[in-house]
Amino acid sequence: MSGETPGYIGFGEYSQHVPHSIPSAVKQATDRFVGTRAARVAEIDQWEELRQIGSDIRQHTLENLDRYLETLEARVTEAGGQVHWASSAEDARQAVLQIARDRQVRSVVKAKSMATEEIGLNHALEAAGIRTLETDLGEYIIQLAGMGPSHIIVPAVHLKKEEIAALFREKLGVDAPADPVELTRIARERLRHEFLTADMGISGANFLVAETGTLVMVTNEGNGRMCTTLPDLHVAVVGIDKVVPDWESLTVLLKLLSRSATGQKITTYTQFITGPRRAEGESGPKEFHLVLLDNGRSRILADPVGRQVFKCIRCGACANVCPVYKNVGGYAYGWFISGPIGAILSPQMLDTQVARELPYASTLCGACAEVCPVKIPIPTILRHLRHRMAQGDEFGSPALPAPVGAAARMTSLALSRSWIYRLGTRLLPFATALLRRDGWLKTLPYPLSRWTSVRPLPAFGARFRQWWKARVRSENG
Ligand code: SF4
Repeated sequence: MSGETPGYIGFGEYSQHVPHSIPSAVKQATDRFVGTRAARVAEIDQWEELRQIGSDIRQHTLENLDRYLETLEARVTEAGGQVHWASSAEDARQAVLQIARDRQVRSVVKAKSMATEEIGLNHALEAAGIRTLETDLGEYIIQLAGMGPSHIIVPAVHLKKEEIAALFREKLGVDAPADPVELTRIARERLRHEFLTADMGISGANFLVAETGTLVMVTNEGNGRMCTTLPDLHVAVVGIDKVVPDWESLTVLLKLLSRSATGQKITTYTQFITGPRRAEGESGPKEFHLVLLDNGRSRILADPVGRQVFKCIRCGACANVCPVYKNVGGYAYGWFISGPIGAILSPQMLDTQVARELPYASTLCGACAEVCPVKIPIPTILRHLRHRMAQGDEFGSPALPAPVGAAARMTSLALSRSWIYRLGTRLLPFATALLRRDGWLKTLPYPLSRWTSVRPLPAFGARFRQWWKARVRSENG
């Protein structure tokens, strides 16, 4: 599976890909999103009830996915579209390439799509000699920079306007000031000609409505509409988890999505596409193809804990509040999807043997689960994956090096039996006395050296239970 899915660079290698401005640019942007989200959420008295309904809809859909996918296929076909089932990333790439070859496609305009990032479609199209241009402003910028997205909804969130201006000057040969309005104007002018001349438009989807076979796209730029209506051929690549039963469900999820993602009541464009155009004179493409991507999703759906990851509606709110994401940025997660949702999705899709660091890329503070509009228990899934890493389960074999796994099992034992814990806290200060320097343990033997090679560990000293008892005593006088 992992061999077929391109692009994972690994948590440990990310530093080569990280521009220096990540912490400040990401913090600024995510703080802004957190503020606007909070303001929109406060306007709805029954926000928690709405979250619960959204969560129930997603859970119900996952439990009945086979039925809804069959309905979706039938409705898309009735509307004149063609459905292609892709069990792997390679199947999906080949399906798109075949459609393009059969119609002598030479140029493609793309709307923002995480599914196409997942399968590495741009590289496959370029390798086949097909010019492929991203048209979402953020995607356009990172394509120019030769990077992938660093945030689910704001792909170029890590770049400052000064860096984007320098990029435009270098790659486009224009006099670009560090002014967002002017930079947008430059990009728009470049893209206009491409929209009008492209042979094929490619998009993803935020949702697929089973009852009518409708593809739903939620955007704040007009580019999605251009990509899916101007070329005569529209191909959408969408994960099978994006299906929703009906329009009533969609209404709930749209309310949750726009407020959680960008802090808007509704995004600027909400586009509904049901098949190709029916008659000459109507807008829309002559042909509509829907590539339904599995790529490991069916396998993960068998795991009742892990599958909750597919309730996700890709709002990015979990990343905006995550202390880890805010400090390391999206590239640290090594694949197309970052933040807490990346930390639970990538290890399941790629296998914990491949994305082995990600279940540990969290403080388990729980902020992600508190903001998630569909109540995905992200910390629970992280612990579930850590357990798989350490001990293995029916969905994966242990992935930790043997000494680290043994240390994890010993820690688990100590924390679940209080007498072992108490004994350990008495013995450890003596056992580490010779290694202590100024209250810190700066070098420890393997496997603990994996930690101390990066940062020192506070020396074992005051025992928590003693400290707590003393505190209670002093508070009670
Ligand atoms: S896990 Fe929840 S908060 Fe994070 S992107 Fe998905 S829906 Fe949004």
